[in-house]
Amino acid sequence: MLPREIQTRFWQQWLSRTLDLIYPSHCEICGENLSAGRALCNVCDADLPRLSKPFCEKCGEPFPGKIEEDFACPNCSKLKFSFEFCRPAMVRDDRTLEMIHRLKYSRELHLAEDLGRLAVEAFSDPRLALALKEKWPLVPVPLHWRRRQHRHFNQAEEISRVIAQHTDLPMIKALKRSHATEHQTRLTRVQRLENLRGAFTITSAGQRQIGKSPVGAILVDDVLTTGSTVDECAKTLRRAGFQKVAVITVMRG
Ligand SMILES: [Zn+2]
Ligand SMILES: [Zn+2]
Repeated sequence: MLPREIQTRFWQQWLSRTLDLIYPSHCEICGENLSAGRALCNVCDADLPRLSKPFCEKCGEPFPGKIEEDFACPNCSKLKFSFEFCRPAMVRDDRTLEMIHRLKYSRELHLAEDLGRLAVEAFSDPRLALALKEKWPLVPVPLHWRRRQHRHFNQAEEISRVIAQHTDLPMIKALKRSHATEHQTRLTRVQRLENLRGAFTITSAGQRQIGKSPVGAILVDDVLTTGSTVDECAKTLRRAGFQKVAVITVMRG
Protein backbone atom coordinates (compact mmCIF):
# COMPACT_ATOMS: atom_id res chain seq x y z
CA MET A 1 0.00 0.00 0.00
CA LEU A 2 1.17 3.50 -0.79
CA PRO A 3 1.04 6.13 1.93
CA ARG A 4 -2.22 8.06 1.82
CA GLU A 5 -0.65 11.37 0.64
CA ILE A 6 1.00 9.68 -2.32
CA GLN A 7 -2.27 7.99 -3.24
CA THR A 8 -4.11 11.32 -3.02
CA ARG A 9 -1.45 13.06 -5.13
CA PHE A 10 -1.68 10.29 -7.71
CA TRP A 11 -5.45 10.66 -8.02
CA GLN A 12 -5.23 14.46 -8.10
CA GLN A 13 -2.72 14.29 -10.96
CA TRP A 14 -4.79 11.67 -12.73
CA LEU A 15 -7.90 13.85 -12.39
CA SER A 16 -6.07 16.92 -13.59
CA ARG A 17 -4.70 15.09 -16.66
CA THR A 18 -8.14 13.65 -17.40
CA LEU A 19 -9.73 17.09 -17.08
CA ASP A 20 -7.10 18.46 -19.45
CA LEU A 21 -8.28 15.90 -21.98
CA ILE A 22 -11.97 16.62 -21.43
CA TYR A 23 -11.84 20.40 -21.21
CA PRO A 24 -10.08 22.70 -23.63
CA SER A 25 -6.94 23.83 -21.84
CA HIS A 26 -6.91 27.32 -23.32
CA CYS A 27 -8.61 30.60 -22.47
CA GLU A 28 -11.98 30.91 -24.23
CA ILE A 29 -11.29 34.54 -25.11
CA CYS A 30 -7.58 34.93 -25.95
CA GLY A 31 -6.47 31.32 -26.43
CA GLU A 32 -3.78 31.46 -23.69
CA ASN A 33 -2.87 28.01 -22.31
CA LEU A 34 -4.52 27.21 -18.99
CA SER A 35 -4.57 24.45 -16.42
CA ALA A 36 -7.66 22.27 -16.24
CA GLY A 37 -10.94 23.47 -14.83
CA ARG A 38 -10.71 27.10 -15.95
CA ALA A 39 -12.19 28.63 -19.06
CA LEU A 40 -10.70 32.13 -18.68
CA CYS A 41 -7.17 33.37 -18.09
CA ASN A 42 -6.64 35.95 -15.30
CA VAL A 43 -6.10 38.80 -17.78
CA CYS A 44 -9.35 38.20 -19.72
CA ASP A 45 -11.25 37.51 -16.51
CA ALA A 46 -10.16 40.85 -15.04
CA ASP A 47 -10.94 42.61 -18.31
CA LEU A 48 -14.64 41.58 -18.44
CA PRO A 49 -16.70 44.54 -17.23
CA ARG A 50 -18.40 44.15 -13.85
CA LEU A 51 -21.51 46.06 -12.86
CA SER A 52 -20.62 48.93 -10.56
CA LYS A 53 -22.48 51.95 -9.23
CA PRO A 54 -24.40 53.89 -10.40
CA PHE A 55 -27.04 51.42 -11.58
CA CYS A 56 -30.83 51.09 -11.30
CA GLU A 57 -31.63 49.62 -7.89
CA LYS A 58 -34.40 47.47 -9.42
CA CYS A 59 -33.02 46.09 -12.70
CA GLY A 60 -29.29 46.79 -12.51
CA GLU A 61 -29.24 48.92 -15.66
CA PRO A 62 -25.96 50.85 -15.44
CA PHE A 63 -25.81 54.63 -15.84
CA PRO A 64 -22.82 56.77 -16.72
CA GLY A 65 -21.72 59.60 -14.47
CA LYS A 66 -22.03 60.15 -10.77
CA ILE A 67 -25.26 59.45 -8.88
CA GLU A 68 -24.79 59.17 -5.13
CA GLU A 69 -28.24 58.13 -3.91
CA ASP A 70 -30.18 54.95 -4.80
CA PHE A 71 -32.46 55.38 -7.79
CA ALA A 72 -34.74 53.45 -10.15
CA CYS A 73 -34.38 53.91 -13.91
CA PRO A 74 -37.25 55.62 -15.82
CA ASN A 75 -38.47 52.19 -16.96
CA CYS A 76 -38.53 50.59 -13.48
CA SER A 77 -40.01 53.59 -11.70
CA LYS A 78 -43.21 52.98 -13.73
CA LEU A 79 -43.34 49.24 -12.96
CA LYS A 80 -44.13 47.09 -9.96
CA PHE A 81 -42.07 43.91 -9.66
CA SER A 82 -42.63 40.87 -7.43
CA PHE A 83 -38.89 40.71 -6.70
CA GLU A 84 -37.03 43.10 -4.41
CA PHE A 85 -34.25 43.81 -6.89
CA CYS A 86 -32.26 42.14 -9.61
CA ARG A 87 -28.47 42.24 -9.26
CA PRO A 88 -26.55 41.24 -12.39
CA ALA A 89 -22.83 40.64 -11.75
CA MET A 90 -21.67 41.87 -15.16
CA VAL A 91 -22.68 44.61 -17.58
CA ARG A 92 -23.45 43.75 -21.18
CA ASP A 93 -20.34 42.71 -23.06
CA ASP A 94 -20.07 40.66 -26.23
CA ARG A 95 -17.42 38.34 -24.74
CA THR A 96 -19.54 37.50 -21.68
CA LEU A 97 -22.64 37.11 -23.84
CA GLU A 98 -20.82 34.79 -26.21
CA MET A 99 -19.79 32.55 -23.32
CA ILE A 100 -23.41 32.43 -22.16
CA HIS A 101 -24.61 31.61 -25.68
CA ARG A 102 -22.01 28.89 -26.06
CA LEU A 103 -23.10 27.36 -22.76
CA LYS A 104 -26.76 27.45 -23.79
CA TYR A 105 -26.76 26.73 -27.49
CA SER A 106 -23.50 24.85 -28.10
CA ARG A 107 -23.80 22.89 -24.85
CA GLU A 108 -20.31 23.88 -23.70
CA LEU A 109 -21.03 22.86 -20.15
CA HIS A 110 -17.51 23.57 -18.92
CA LEU A 111 -18.26 27.32 -19.26
CA ALA A 112 -20.78 27.12 -16.39
CA GLU A 113 -17.91 27.07 -13.89
CA ASP A 114 -16.49 30.47 -14.84
CA LEU A 115 -19.91 32.02 -15.49
CA GLY A 116 -21.07 30.83 -12.07
CA ARG A 117 -17.91 32.20 -10.49
CA LEU A 118 -18.55 35.59 -12.15
CA ALA A 119 -22.18 35.51 -10.93
CA VAL A 120 -20.92 35.05 -7.34
CA GLU A 121 -19.49 38.59 -7.57
CA ALA A 122 -23.09 39.88 -7.35
CA PHE A 123 -22.87 38.99 -3.64
CA SER A 124 -20.54 41.93 -3.09
CA ASP A 125 -23.80 43.93 -3.12
CA PRO A 126 -24.64 44.73 0.53
CA ARG A 127 -28.34 44.15 -0.19
CA LEU A 128 -27.55 40.41 -0.43
CA ALA A 129 -25.87 40.22 2.99
CA LEU A 130 -29.14 39.25 4.67
CA ALA A 131 -29.77 36.48 2.12
CA LEU A 132 -26.31 35.07 2.88
CA LYS A 133 -26.86 35.33 6.63
CA GLU A 134 -30.32 33.72 6.51
CA LYS A 135 -29.18 31.16 3.92
CA TRP A 136 -31.87 31.87 1.34
CA PRO A 137 -31.95 29.06 -1.21
CA LEU A 138 -30.81 29.60 -4.80
CA VAL A 139 -33.70 28.85 -7.15
CA PRO A 140 -32.79 28.40 -10.82
CA VAL A 141 -35.26 29.73 -13.40
CA PRO A 142 -36.62 26.48 -14.85
CA LEU A 143 -36.81 25.38 -18.46
CA HIS A 144 -39.81 23.54 -19.79
CA TRP A 145 -39.02 19.82 -19.77
CA ARG A 146 -39.20 19.67 -23.56
CA ARG A 147 -36.57 22.39 -23.97
CA ARG A 148 -34.49 20.82 -21.25
CA GLN A 149 -34.69 17.48 -23.02
CA HIS A 150 -33.46 19.16 -26.19
CA ARG A 151 -30.64 21.02 -24.43
CA HIS A 152 -29.83 18.20 -21.96
CA PHE A 153 -29.38 20.66 -19.09
CA ASN A 154 -30.68 23.93 -17.70
CA GLN A 155 -28.01 26.64 -17.82
CA ALA A 156 -29.54 28.49 -14.83
CA GLU A 157 -29.29 25.30 -12.80
CA GLU A 158 -25.65 24.74 -13.77
CA ILE A 159 -24.81 28.34 -12.82
CA SER A 160 -26.72 27.98 -9.53
CA ARG A 161 -24.78 24.83 -8.71
CA VAL A 162 -21.48 26.74 -8.99
CA ILE A 163 -22.84 29.66 -6.93
CA ALA A 164 -23.95 27.16 -4.27
CA GLN A 165 -20.43 25.73 -4.05
CA HIS A 166 -18.89 29.18 -3.61
CA THR A 167 -21.44 30.67 -1.20
CA ASP A 168 -22.57 27.66 0.80
CA LEU A 169 -26.19 28.50 0.01
CA PRO A 170 -28.46 25.55 -0.82
CA MET A 171 -29.80 25.18 -4.36
CA ILE A 172 -33.43 24.16 -4.52
CA LYS A 173 -35.36 23.45 -7.70
CA ALA A 174 -38.41 25.18 -6.27
CA LEU A 175 -40.06 26.01 -9.60
CA LYS A 176 -41.12 24.15 -12.70
CA ARG A 177 -42.34 25.50 -15.98
CA SER A 178 -45.79 24.04 -16.34
CA HIS A 179 -46.39 25.10 -19.90
CA ALA A 180 -44.03 25.74 -22.75
CA THR A 181 -43.82 29.42 -23.67
CA GLU A 182 -43.00 31.05 -26.98
CA HIS A 183 -39.51 32.50 -27.36
CA GLN A 184 -39.74 35.92 -25.78
CA THR A 185 -37.23 37.73 -27.95
CA ARG A 186 -39.61 39.29 -30.45
CA LEU A 187 -42.49 39.99 -28.09
CA THR A 188 -43.45 43.33 -26.57
CA ARG A 189 -43.58 43.64 -22.79
CA VAL A 190 -47.36 43.20 -22.71
CA GLN A 191 -47.12 40.14 -24.97
CA ARG A 192 -44.33 38.73 -22.78
CA LEU A 193 -46.43 39.04 -19.65
CA GLU A 194 -49.40 37.40 -21.38
CA ASN A 195 -47.15 34.63 -22.72
CA LEU A 196 -45.78 33.94 -19.23
CA ARG A 197 -48.99 34.09 -17.21
CA GLY A 198 -49.29 30.92 -15.12
CA ALA A 199 -46.18 29.44 -16.75
CA PHE A 200 -44.56 28.45 -13.44
CA THR A 201 -45.66 26.35 -10.50
CA ILE A 202 -44.03 25.52 -7.21
CA THR A 203 -42.47 22.05 -6.85
CA SER A 204 -42.71 19.81 -3.80
CA ALA A 205 -39.06 20.70 -3.00
CA GLY A 206 -40.14 24.36 -3.03
CA GLN A 207 -43.08 23.59 -0.74
CA ARG A 208 -40.81 21.81 1.72
CA GLN A 209 -38.44 24.78 1.80
CA ILE A 210 -41.34 27.17 2.53
CA GLY A 211 -42.35 24.89 5.40
CA LYS A 212 -38.82 25.08 6.80
CA SER A 213 -37.92 28.70 6.08
CA PRO A 214 -40.18 31.03 4.11
CA VAL A 215 -38.01 34.14 4.63
CA GLY A 216 -36.60 34.44 1.15
CA ALA A 217 -35.29 32.97 -2.08
CA ILE A 218 -32.73 34.04 -4.66
CA LEU A 219 -33.75 33.45 -8.25
CA VAL A 220 -30.85 32.71 -10.58
CA ASP A 221 -30.78 33.22 -14.34
CA ASP A 222 -28.11 33.75 -16.99
CA VAL A 223 -29.15 37.13 -18.42
CA LEU A 224 -31.66 39.76 -17.36
CA THR A 225 -33.31 41.44 -20.33
CA THR A 226 -36.79 42.87 -19.61
CA GLY A 227 -37.15 41.04 -16.31
CA SER A 228 -40.58 39.61 -17.21
CA THR A 229 -39.51 35.96 -16.78
CA VAL A 230 -37.91 36.47 -13.36
CA ASP A 231 -40.86 38.62 -12.34
CA GLU A 232 -43.33 35.83 -13.15
CA CYS A 233 -41.08 33.37 -11.25
CA ALA A 234 -40.89 35.75 -8.29
CA LYS A 235 -44.68 36.15 -8.33
CA THR A 236 -45.07 32.35 -8.17
CA LEU A 237 -42.61 32.08 -5.26
CA ARG A 238 -44.27 34.93 -3.36
CA ARG A 239 -47.76 33.47 -3.86
CA ALA A 240 -46.51 30.11 -2.59
CA GLY A 241 -45.23 31.71 0.63
CA PHE A 242 -41.68 33.03 0.19
CA GLN A 243 -41.64 36.45 1.81
CA LYS A 244 -38.90 38.05 -0.26
CA VAL A 245 -37.32 37.26 -3.60
CA ALA A 246 -34.04 38.67 -4.88
CA VAL A 247 -32.68 37.94 -8.34
CA ILE A 248 -29.10 37.48 -9.46
CA THR A 249 -27.94 37.00 -13.04
CA VAL A 250 -24.54 36.67 -14.68
CA MET A 251 -25.15 39.63 -16.95
CA ARG A 252 -27.48 42.57 -17.62
CA GLY A 253 -28.68 42.13 -21.22
ZN1 LIG B 1 -7.45 35.06 -21.94
ZN1 LIG C 1 -34.37 49.69 -13.94
